[in-house]
Amino acid sequence: MRSILEDSHGRKASYMRVSVTDRCNLRCVYCAGAGDFIPHPNILRYEEILDLMDLALRLSIEKVRFTGGEPFVRKGFADFLVAAAARFPALELCVTTNATLLGDQVERLAKAGVKRINISLDTLDPAKFARVTGRDLYSRVRESVDRCLAAGVCLKINAVAMRGVNDDEVAGFVELARTHPMDVRFIEFMPVGLENGWKDSAVWKAEDILAEAARYADLTPVDTACIKTRGPARMYAIEGGLGRLGVISAYSNHFCDTCNRLRLTSDGKLRTCLFSDKVYRLRQALRHPKLGIDAVERIIRKAGRHKPLGHELLERTPKDHGVCRTRMASIGG
Ligand code: SAM
Repeated sequence: MRSILEDSHGRKASYMRVSVTDRCNLRCVYCAGAGDFIPHPNILRYEEILDLMDLALRLSIEKVRFTGGEPFVRKGFADFLVAAAARFPALELCVTTNATLLGDQVERLAKAGVKRINISLDTLDPAKFARVTGRDLYSRVRESVDRCLAAGVCLKINAVAMRGVNDDEVAGFVELARTHPMDVRFIEFMPVGLENGWKDSAVWKAEDILAEAARYADLTPVDTACIKTRGPARMYAIEGGLGRLGVISAYSNHFCDTCNRLRLTSDGKLRTCLFSDKVYRLRQALRHPKLGIDAVERIIRKAGRHKPLGHELLERTPKDHGVCRTRMASIGG
């Protein structure tokens, strides 16, 4: 049967990333960039997000990942997550966070069923962490990592791989994955957003990362093809290790052909491709007295059909330019 959100290239959208805020308490050099914050009245209310999730579920979305900005800087986010988990037991609910404000919430989230947490951590060096993020909060992130592991959360650590920033830390990240039951993944630096310092020479390619990692551990590819909502990471088991190492070659070897993602920004714009600035405005339709959720459904169906092949956009981009002008912090990664 044809999936409800199947596009003209035969791809089925089953995964939606929902950004709940464009604000963040970190100032990561590669992410923040310049730009105004979205005014509060334009941010979707939690009830509106729940209504959109309800619709998404009807449209065959199976997995929702909350993101930001930093989701935990938004007031009431942990309560909202618990409520969302109770209301949508059929949805796989996940969250991606910098984990600086996560620590105290871990146990209740795990108990509520939010058991898939991605933590962004680009360096294992506290001083470098402060330089990259603009905040001296490394120890708080590590505490959250420990609490996630203790609570039995399915944990992934994501590090943006950047030449000249963390390309001297492969051994440390391999050791982290070897000694802990978690996935540690390097994500190639992507040309998203302007003024984020992206340039071709800063991209530390997945193949180079793997070649170096192989100096520190025996890596065996893990076949994730059987996992229904699998991500774009190539994962490797570490001989004698508890966790796994992975790479996401978002730039050098894009996976647009199998992309199953939609993105909802905190001001209610639907984006069908990370590398495109094309947006579909859901908030206006949702709040319009004569339109509402039925009109939103029509817009999402149309958007789903017209999802572009992102790598075509990437290939047209001059070197050292962002493909998409919007800051990553306001899209949600
Ligand atoms: N604050 C949350 C966090 O830290 O996970 C969620 C938002 S953040 C925008 C989501 C992810 O995007 C983070 O892992 C971040 O490192 C990543 N990211 C931001 N800019 C990026 C870029 N240009 N290339 C690759 N990843 C990027």
